[in-house]
Amino acid sequence: MNTDTKLAVLDQIYKICDDFAETPDLACQRYCAACCTRNVTLTTLEGYRIAEHIISNGKSDLFAKLENESDKKRFHPLTTTNRLAVLCMEGKEPPEEENDASFGSCPFLTDDECPVYPVRPFGCRCFVSKQDCRETGFADVEPSVIAVNNVFLQYIEHVDAQGYSGNLTDILLFMESEDNRQSYMNSDLKRISERLIQNSPIKVVLVSPEHRDRVEPVLKSLQSIKVPGN
Ligand code: SF4
Ligand code: SF4
Repeated sequence: MNTDTKLAVLDQIYKICDDFAETPDLACQRYCAACCTRNVTLTTLEGYRIAEHIISNGKSDLFAKLENESDKKRFHPLTTTNRLAVLCMEGKEPPEEENDASFGSCPFLTDDECPVYPVRPFGCRCFVSKQDCRETGFADVEPSVIAVNNVFLQYIEHVDAQGYSGNLTDILLFMESEDNRQSYMNSDLKRISERLIQNSPIKVVLVSPEHRDRVEPVLKSLQSIKVPGN
């Protein structure tokens, strides 16, 4: 799959995700941004989409915002969702990761709005709550929604299996470089930050029996995605 095809598939995955997230009992609304932390992670495919959006919409000052906050503490994932699924299947412990909402807000956040909202990564699309996190201090998410979100994450990583995953700041600063974007477009990434982790194709989809009913229709939609050119 070339990068244009992967981007077209990503758009279809986002559409399925947005349809799935459209439930009436959510507290999420505009200007509610407590979930917009500095800890968001994404794939290089999603980062490429955001970088292109930033550049083509004349918003390159957003890269400077990332740069200005790049020395601040943030979540650095040590594994990816598909690698984690394999570890679980093998009964192995995942690596210990340090993740804390107190690390601060997403550097992109401007007046409690997302300046890249149409192309925000899956990690932002999937973050929903039945109660207002600003009042409760935590997100109230059904376990079955977390199960479905994991499946989405596995698929997105699978589509970008030759790419990498990492913190939003690290992925976007990498994609700020035209050389890196070109290498990514040519499926020829040579230089990569040590903070980014190589993605992996899906080897196993982890769904516990109690969530199967909720996950199955989403899996069906993901499996019926039309790959352009095929
Ligand atoms: S997840 Fe929480 S903080 Fe984010 S929009 Fe929904 S209610 Fe607000
Ligand atoms: S990218 Fe946008 S939606 Fe995601 S955390 Fe940052 S400001 Fe919020």
